[in-house]
Amino acid sequence: MKILLASRNAKKLGELRRILVSEGLAGLEVVGLDDVPEFPEAPETDPTFEGNALAKARDAFAATGLASVADDSGIAVDALNGMPGVLSARWSGAHGNDLANLELLLGQLRDVPDERRGAAFVCTAALVAPGGVETVVRGEWRGTIRREPAGANGFGYDPIFQPEGCEVTSAELSPAEKDELSHRGRALRLLLPHLRELAQR
Ligand code: IMP
Repeated sequence: MKILLASRNAKKLGELRRILVSEGLAGLEVVGLDDVPEFPEAPETDPTFEGNALAKARDAFAATGLASVADDSGIAVDALNGMPGVLSARWSGAHGNDLANLELLLGQLRDVPDERRGAAFVCTAALVAPGGVETVVRGEWRGTIRREPAGANGFGYDPIFQPEGCEVTSAELSPAEKDELSHRGRALRLLLPHLRELAQR
């Protein structure tokens, strides 16, 4: 059975494939948006991670008829009342400019003392499948915002995020270590029981 992960991000596709294989669900074939005929992709306009993930999964299912998974993620900083949140990718205005986003956030937190630099990476994942199946799950990964970037792995805010229980930033973890701990790994693993049910139909 095919599962469409509504993303063009090779890292996200790889992560879902690795998790499915490690959970014995290798029978589910994961395809991405580049593997299906193109359809109009609506912009992410919902104020919540859940709303954006569900809208993307619904659009993908409606266009292809395939069981579809979509995610939305970002970083929620305590001292900024949960911002950048759903605006994480375009915090500095330019979509996908990771360095500018990270530098803007560091500047905004310059005067925030160490004990108030808590934050969480958040990932919601939605599954929309035949038979009216609609499920949304949420994974969180808590940590603190460093004062200087460190590490070259990962992307986005990884160089300034020090996960709870770690001495290094998430950009200093290997991809396998990050999969184990990350918000995205947690959300995808919460979807597994639902994917297993689909696989058994
Ligand atoms: P999207 O879920 O692809 O829309 O991405 C949301 C944005 O949140 C990304 O552009 C990053 O800035 C940030 N983000 C989400 N997950 C991570 C992560 O694992 N590491 C670093 N930044 C992340």
